[in-house]
Amino acid sequence: MEYNPEENILWIANDRYKPETCEIGDIGNCIRCGNELETLSFHEVTPFNAIAARCTSCNRLLLSIYDSDWSWYKEVDLSRTTKVVDQDQKPTDLDELSGLQLLEAIPENALKTIFSPREVEAMFSRARGEKYVRQYLYNARKKYSRFADVFGILIDV
Ligand SMILES: [Zn+2]
Repeated sequence: MEYNPEENILWIANDRYKPETCEIGDIGNCIRCGNELETLSFHEVTPFNAIAARCTSCNRLLLSIYDSDWSWYKEVDLSRTTKVVDQDQKPTDLDELSGLQLLEAIPENALKTIFSPREVEAMFSRARGEKYVRQYLYNARKKYSRFADVFGILIDV
């Protein structure tokens, strides 16, 4: 997941989300430093609504994700995953990757948005052909379609 603050473009895998609007009210304070957040853009990421914001003090870039009824769902830290991308240039083509390569190419924050740490561990172990806890992989697999809905990436381990 990447965000271009100059163009207000959100990238999720190979999908480019233009802002629906950049006129958004106050969405609260930074959970890291407590200072005010400056909202940057609103994106419809079906079935979710997403608002990109930047902390006015520590400059952290984040994406607040809400469900279709605007109930708060998750917050994703965009600071670590964002590099400025050219408007017409796609980031790494995840479609060409699979298995462990695909998992490793997905930003950790994106995985953590949907999966628990133990589920992530089980997915990586399975992909590497190592021992894993079946129950955690089973739970993770039930979430693959949700992960694909949010991030446009279908995990195949
Ligand atoms: Zn902050």
